[in-house]
Amino acid sequence: IKRDSRFAEITPEHVEYFKGILGKESALIDGVTKDATDDMEPFNADWMRKYRGHTKLVLKPGSTEEVSKILKYCNDNMLAVVPQGGNTGLVGGSVPVFDEIVIQMGRMNAIRSFDEVSGTLVADAGCILETTDRYLADRGHIFPLDLGAKGSCHIGGNLATNAGGLRLLRYGSLHGTVLGVEAVLPDGTIVDELSKLRKNNTGYDLKQLFIGAEGTIGIITGVAIQCPQRSKAVNVAFFGLESFEKVQKAFIEAKGQLGEILSAFELMDRNSQRMVKEYTNNKSPLEDEHPFYCLIETSGSNSEHDTEKLEKFLEDVMEKEIVLDGVVAQDETQIKALWSWREGVPEAIGGFGGAYKYDVSIPLAEMYTLVEDTRVRMEEAGLIGDSDSHPVKDVVGYGHMGDSNLHLNVSVRRYDKAVEKALEPWVYEWIEKRSGSISAEHGLGLAKKKYIGYSRSETMIGLMKQVKNLYDPNGIMNPYKYI
Ligand code: FAD
Repeated sequence: IKRDSRFAEITPEHVEYFKGILGKESALIDGVTKDATDDMEPFNADWMRKYRGHTKLVLKPGSTEEVSKILKYCNDNMLAVVPQGGNTGLVGGSVPVFDEIVIQMGRMNAIRSFDEVSGTLVADAGCILETTDRYLADRGHIFPLDLGAKGSCHIGGNLATNAGGLRLLRYGSLHGTVLGVEAVLPDGTIVDELSKLRKNNTGYDLKQLFIGAEGTIGIITGVAIQCPQRSKAVNVAFFGLESFEKVQKAFIEAKGQLGEILSAFELMDRNSQRMVKEYTNNKSPLEDEHPFYCLIETSGSNSEHDTEKLEKFLEDVMEKEIVLDGVVAQDETQIKALWSWREGVPEAIGGFGGAYKYDVSIPLAEMYTLVEDTRVRMEEAGLIGDSDSHPVKDVVGYGHMGDSNLHLNVSVRRYDKAVEKALEPWVYEWIEKRSGSISAEHGLGLAKKKYIGYSRSETMIGLMKQVKNLYDPNGIMNPYKYI
């Protein structure tokens, strides 16, 4: 891609203007008038260290009004921007491609209100997910979304990517739980749609456009969201199985026997668990190795009752020879330890170099076949092996089984064009043939921008372009990505 020459380059005068708006010295990192190359690094590099931008200016607004002034000025002066939350996105959407200004939302991190009767939370977009969830825990509630990057990601970033995560099975998608959004459009208009109503059928539901827009039509500054009561009893079981067929049988049994308390059903293959083991040196929860592992979480109101149900379920599926071996966590520490075998997979894979990551939706029956077919493809191309001369270390599958959402990770010792060429567009064609989605939850960003056509029709892409042009006619919002 080439830098779009319609965009202006940042000058010392621009920097002076932003200094005037933001007031605080710490709210602006400036490599235009001073040499701040080191300070810029974390804002220019993504979580996977796969994408690198060259911003010379990072702005950290402290209020919606500041965001509005910044965007209006950028729009008037044709300065391109990238909204950035916790920078944990996995498709290269959160870092600049060239010298776009980074607008980092971390200073907008206040809880605005919480109503314990309805469970409605209103908070700034820059609140960190884990901090927000802890605030809710103290009040007997839970954020209806949880994911491995919770310690860094922002709730605004979660909305912008329409994050799915570990509990979608129980609490549904953000398109259902988000009640209202406050956002700023590129021309500085503040869209005040922070409705706290669960029901509001008065025209188009425009807030939905910001959910999953990846910062391409405006910046989300505030969020109103419906938070469920925190379950008094949370239990976790971890078990091993011999085939993906058995995994599907276990899922049917879990829905049947644990339906109303089931809050997560996660899948990990043997290779993913080997990598976590190698990376952390932790002792595996089960004695023997198995081709597949599942983690089940239940959330209910009666600990004794739920434990009994879960233990009975495990007994039953072992008796029916669906599951080979399993454990149920006995306390909070064991719950965390079992979860770490699922949540620790991305970090472990990253620790060995990098990964080509495909976060995809596939009808369940064929979900794991993609991992097997990918391995064959890497073998045929001579790219996978134990020695350093092979770029690919392993092909790994894990994900949110309960949502038919697979994370296919091709773990590499180093990023290599030959690997990418063997994978793309082959992976996307494979998914298109099964009517799946090339992006189940991470979005399109830079990584998947070219491939949207594998999951959306010309008509739909055309409509999306119209929306983009209407909200952002100058195209300054997160350019070079999405559509
Ligand atoms: P960023 O990475 O900073 O930004 C992501 C995108 O949103 C960018 O396009 C950015 O421009 C835009 N954006 C950010 N903030 C705003 C804003 N306030 N207004 C407008 N646009 C904005 N994702 C899942 O869905 N499910 C998972 O289970 C999951 N697990 C993960 C586990 C790990 C270990 C990691 C590293 C990532 C995982 N992700 C997962 C991906 C990522 O964490 C989520 O996409 C997360 O929602 C991104 O939030 P963020 O604040 O880090 O956003």
